[in-house]
Amino acid sequence: MLKKFLYVLWALIFFVLVLLGLKNGSFITFINSMEARTFDIRQKVLVNSGVRKHNKDIVIVAIDDGSYEYILDHYGEWPLRRDLYAKMVDFIEVQNPKSIAFDLMFVKSLKADKNSDKALVDVFKKYNNIFTAMNLDDQPQDLRVPPILPDKLAIDVKDPENLHVMEYSNCRVILQEILDVTSNIGMINVSRSDDGVLRKMPVYLKYRDKFYPQLGYLVGSHYLGERKDLVVDDDKSGEGVILNWYGPAGTFENIPMYKVLKAAEGQENLNYDFSGKVVYFGATAASLFDIKTVPVDKVYPGVEVQATYVNNIIDGSYIIKCPVWVNLLSAIVLMIISGICVFGLSSIITAVGLVLTIDCAYVILTYYLMSAFNLWLDIVMPLVAGVGIFIIAVVVKYLIKSRDFDHQYKLATTDGLTELYNHRYFQEQMQQITSHAKRYDVPLSLIIIDIDFFKRFNDTYGHQSGDAVLRQVAFELKKNVRASDIVCRYGGEEMSIILPNTKYEEAVAIANKLCTIISNKKCKLSNNRESNVTISLGVASFGNDGTEPSQIIEAADKRLYNAKENGRNRVN
Ligand code: GH3
Ligand code: MG
Ligand code: MG
Repeated sequence: MLKKFLYVLWALIFFVLVLLGLKNGSFITFINSMEARTFDIRQKVLVNSGVRKHNKDIVIVAIDDGSYEYILDHYGEWPLRRDLYAKMVDFIEVQNPKSIAFDLMFVKSLKADKNSDKALVDVFKKYNNIFTAMNLDDQPQDLRVPPILPDKLAIDVKDPENLHVMEYSNCRVILQEILDVTSNIGMINVSRSDDGVLRKMPVYLKYRDKFYPQLGYLVGSHYLGERKDLVVDDDKSGEGVILNWYGPAGTFENIPMYKVLKAAEGQENLNYDFSGKVVYFGATAASLFDIKTVPVDKVYPGVEVQATYVNNIIDGSYIIKCPVWVNLLSAIVLMIISGICVFGLSSIITAVGLVLTIDCAYVILTYYLMSAFNLWLDIVMPLVAGVGIFIIAVVVKYLIKSRDFDHQYKLATTDGLTELYNHRYFQEQMQQITSHAKRYDVPLSLIIIDIDFFKRFNDTYGHQSGDAVLRQVAFELKKNVRASDIVCRYGGEEMSIILPNTKYEEAVAIANKLCTIISNKKCKLSNNRESNVTISLGVASFGNDGTEPSQIIEAADKRLYNAKENGRNRVN
């Protein structure tokens, strides 16, 4: 019963897992999406525990809701006039910042305000530490013929044939004058996982067979004074490096842009020192729609994603996934531990406790690796494998045990020679069936059988032949009674049959039938000889002969003795 239940349970678990896997396309996709969630949780815990410290040199001039409102109130329109950005740049450059980066795209202005555009172009000409953004896309060719970008924007990469990067077929260009005067232009495309969460940053993007760098990559490299060879990706999905997060939205210092604007226009003082800072301009206002979902926050401005990326580059702290073989090894270790716990410990509760403890320790280890070494060691696949093996091991152990138990039980209740029930089982059953008969007032009979002149038989044909005859008599008895009747070896060459729900007269009839069958049976002896034996039988019943097992057995014994006295090969 329990065996069947376990089979069903195991099949159910397997079924649910497969179903969940299928729902998401495949089991692997399901495991991967669960894994990504464990990554998010690890990042959140790390961020909340304050382990990660962001770089204070990175500040954001935020076009927040207040600044957006201020711009509409004072300048009447969005986007903001470009000469005002130029003014802010001039204002900040006085203080010698490390760099100024615009997470904004200066595309062709609608009103073609040439003077305003020119002021911006001039600051790009004047300062070589200003960066701006562009975006690749897949717009159709009939909307916009894919433009040719200046060669200086492209970047040389190692082993371009094998570089797995995101590829686009079109591009929205920014003001030609800016393209002419600077090569500090980076792409701001991001990549999202299947669940919509932004976990990776593309480092290079491919367009018209050339590679273009990410804006953050340029800004980070400029900060370090060198262009680092960055890991593009390790899983060949072409989506770039995995970001390591520092905190929820607002972690990087945010200066509302309207304050900088006021200061640049000389209306107010801004008590802020920009020297040595990486100043990122970007939208944080919800109404400007540059909002992403990241592992540590549902609402996270695009410009802070850029800041996070730059910070990762500066301190080389982006996340590295452990190679597949390390994850497989972890799974194998957890599987082996599960197996050892199940088979090495006698108590299943202790095994469950130990495996749970070890699995928890493993999860803590993965957290530590991420915290101390920025390593992403898989949790889900190794745990699923470990727990899976644990369940399988428990089922197998139970099956082995139950088979062992069945075997032990058979050994304890049967007679080895005749394969009839043994004397102990006979006594137990007599007790049980007698009390059942008493309680429900149902009949019960007992037949005791003894082979006639068996000593002589043994002397004549040898013990081997005697054993063979015993086996054949036992077999015949069993074959010729009901399945509910219990045939036992009472001892020596004596056998007994308990007949539940059987009246005395019926039992006598059965005994007579058996007596005839045995006397007519040719028993095979060793050396291919044949011989006959006869049996004598004594019958007794519950009620007539007593209500206790001992009384019934004694009566049957007495009648067997009488049968012997009266000439054997008969029933009494
Ligand atoms: P009867 O019952 O007709 O009075 O004569 P008997 O010769 O059968 O008498 P008894 O019951 O005293 O002898 C039993 C004999 O059965 C003794 C022994 O040699 C034989 N016997 C008992 N158990 C076994 C056994 O397991 N194998 C063999 N081969 N013989 C057995
Ligand atoms: Mg005997
Ligand atoms: Mg005998």
